Amino acid sequence: MKSLEDRILSEGKALSDSVLKVNSFINHMVDPKLMHEIGDTFAAYYKDSSITKVVTIEVSGIAPAVYTAEALGVPLVILKKQTSKTLSGDVLQTNITSFTKGTSYELTLERAYVSPEDHVLIIDDFLANGEAATGAACLVQEAGASIAGIGILIEKSFQRGRSRLEKNGYKVTSLVRVSKLAKGKIEFMQADI
Ligand code: 5GP
Repeated sequence: MKSLEDRILSEGKALSDSVLKVNSFINHMVDPKLMHEIGDTFAAYYKDSSITKVVTIEVSGIAPAVYTAEALGVPLVILKKQTSKTLSGDVLQTNITSFTKGTSYELTLERAYVSPEDHVLIIDDFLANGEAATGAACLVQEAGASIAGIGILIEKSFQRGRSRLEKNGYKVTSLVRVSKLAKGKIEFMQADI
């Protein structure tokens, strides 16, 4: 997606050879116009895939996932990173190690919100080693649903996330694929959409 690549080049910062900072339009301040365009782009790609729900991970997946779900005309389910007193009943959980924080958390889904009739599109902001996306996919499948694909805004293609997901049979559709990061340098390769 050219507009996302352009925005990364103008505002993104390679903090190291493995971490990209995009706090001014995705992770801290959010550009709703860009998120809307991203949602429309995923929805156009998946429009004939009989998606019944979009699933994302709090927090940074929510903005693009809301627009994707709205464009597809389906509900959005947000997987929780923190347990809460409002989570009750039958919950599914899996342990995830965070790429950026180095800590781990229990990703949680209340079973009532995803059912065996669902065909799900998973959306997340970044793909690095594939921990978060693998965990999300496992929860959705544990709830009995099927997965149409995993939509990623920014894939770091030099890390192992994509090959891990594809090896497990998931279709990955990334709007932007970063082939190389170095201080002051961001390079792209051909993306999926
Ligand atoms: P993974 O689980 O694939 O190893 O990492 C993906 C998750 O870590 C994403 O949900 C995102 O929150 C975070 N992440 C991974 N790499 C980066 C990065 O380079 N920049 C930012 N801002 N977040 C990242």
